[in-house]
Amino acid sequence: LVAPMPYQRILLKMSGEALGDPATGHGIDPPAVQKIARQVARVVELGIEVAMVVGGGNILRGAEFSQLGGHRVNADYMGMLGTVINALAMSDALESAGLETRVMTALDIRQVAEPFVRRRAERHLSRGRVVILGAGTGNPFFTTDSAAALRASELGCSVLLKATKVDGIYSADPKKDPTATRYERLSFEEAIVKNLKVMDGTAMSMCRDHGIPVIVFDMFQEGNLERVVRGETIGTIVTT
Ligand code: UDP
Repeated sequence: LVAPMPYQRILLKMSGEALGDPATGHGIDPPAVQKIARQVARVVELGIEVAMVVGGGNILRGAEFSQLGGHRVNADYMGMLGTVINALAMSDALESAGLETRVMTALDIRQVAEPFVRRRAERHLSRGRVVILGAGTGNPFFTTDSAAALRASELGCSVLLKATKVDGIYSADPKKDPTATRYERLSFEEAIVKNLKVMDGTAMSMCRDHGIPVIVFDMFQEGNLERVVRGETIGTIVTT
């Protein structure tokens, strides 16, 4: 007897850094992207529908870049275009791993990717295609975490999986504070009030309002994505 999967359709949020050079987090490192693709392939083989939102921090972050003298809105558009580059790299690696994919973007770049249309995204997912969502929300001043919360809500995903470099949410920065402890479970209220810096407040509130649990976990450990979707308690789960 095979235990039913706890989640049917997931939204996987990858930071841009995860696709970058392991030492610096910059650029695109093909082995890093392939490693992610292998893990995604394993959960697709389990019959789980996967939508992915990719960040762009390996290329450019609007808030940081605009401090060098540019216009914030323009810098944010540059950031969003960076996420499209990442989405294409991710799509390539997933297809090499034997999956079918579609890249859909919040900004129209028709020669490059499909525009995001919820109904079409739903259809791709129900056919077992991995839908990779680029260009964030399409709006400046937002983040790809907010895009992940928004798309998870629109697409009826049962969970938002936030893949990070650390194995969950800590009471303080574990790199700076040796007494920091990891939470296994947190309420949205606690996560928002304590301002735990794992996900911005906009994204957290949206997940809270739509009852979408958020799991923060370390995806650099191969096999962890599969463990999470099978319902193993790793990382930190944020729920109501
Ligand atoms: N961005 C934006 N609107 C969005 C999503 C992203 O303006 O809806 C821009 C913003 O400048 C951001 C950059 O794209 O800094 C890259 O996204 P993010 O910082 O969320 O990437 P991550 O940290 O997840 O790699």
